[in-house]
Amino acid sequence: MNTNELITAFPGLDIRQHVALSAYTNTRVGGEADLVFWPRTVAELREVVAYATAHDVPMTVLGNASNLIITDDGLRGLTIFVTKLNEVAVSGNRIKATAGATIIDVTQIAREHSLAGIEWAAGIPGSVGGAVFMNAGAYGGQVDGWLESAEVITPAGEIKSYSNADLQFSYRHSLVQDTGDVIISATFKLQPDDGAAIEARMEDFNQKRASKQPLEFPSCGSVFKRPEGYFAGKLIMDAGLQGFQIGGAQVSTKHAGFIVNRGNATGSDYVNVIKHVQAVVKEKFGVDLETEVRILGN
Ligand SMILES: Cc1cc2nc3c(=O)[nH]c(=O)nc-3n(C[C@H](O)[C@H](O)[C@H](O)COP(=O)(O)OP(=O)(O)OC[C@H]3O[C@@H](n4cnc5c(N)ncnc54)[C@H](O)[C@@H]3O)c2cc1C
Repeated sequence: MNTNELITAFPGLDIRQHVALSAYTNTRVGGEADLVFWPRTVAELREVVAYATAHDVPMTVLGNASNLIITDDGLRGLTIFVTKLNEVAVSGNRIKATAGATIIDVTQIAREHSLAGIEWAAGIPGSVGGAVFMNAGAYGGQVDGWLESAEVITPAGEIKSYSNADLQFSYRHSLVQDTGDVIISATFKLQPDDGAAIEARMEDFNQKRASKQPLEFPSCGSVFKRPEGYFAGKLIMDAGLQGFQIGGAQVSTKHAGFIVNRGNATGSDYVNVIKHVQAVVKEKFGVDLETEVRILGN
């Protein structure tokens, strides 16, 4: 089907054509999306997902686009940003957040309610949906340690709930990476603690981030997964690759695991730097670096 048909089928919804994705990605790279949809309600999202599946429209669901590189030819079909679904509700020790809520907001609200457990996530610039999809983690904490359940829309448009065990979490992996489900909300079960102690831990983690990570440049966080028995950043540093640059994409001189956009980087620059780093690390140390970031597009 052509993309105009989808727009015609849903008058009144926020669906736009030919959107430059670089305006929305944390790396500031990425080509055009054929169509972008910003659902305002779960009901809107559900209808469009079911329709797109029934009409074989390729679909990409994104949150804050902080863990991905979109190639220069962009994304075909329908790209859905869930960022307007951003409610956070507290009930006793539980926080339920919709997929587009930011992790930073959820951790702040947890602190305001003296609920501890997810302080490690305080500086992760992603959405709740992205964090569940990726099983995000830092400083010894990980989503799977605190998530009770997640609700999704299946590709057919059904609403389904998964328990923590159902999601088959492992390092930077969850079941949703294999099912094509769209995450719509997540419930975290936390522990009561002293608000000031929670705040102190969050501040400590954020200071560590600011001192070690190149937060002054656009990036997609740690590019590579931690290889068994090694640290990706250390391997890259030992290979002498810090500062290596193609076009505007550079292996950070502050944190070798990050690739920063020094201005006008393209998706190809990023992909070429990644390939070079993988080849050099393999040649020097015999270690395969697997990407943690998702590379979307051709
Ligand atoms: C400076 C910086 C620091 C970072 N620090 C950390 C860190 O400490 N730990 C860590 O784990 N990560 C870190 N990240 C990476 C990133 O912020 C996390 O992985 C975050 O959880 C991704 O969320 P997002 O909304 O940006 O996801 P996106 O980048 O939008 O998407 C990531 C993947 O999830 C899928 N997805 C997103 N939302 C949904 C949804 N609702 N339903 C189905 N699929 C979905 C997308 O299709 C994509 O494949 C960092 C990134 C940056 C830029």
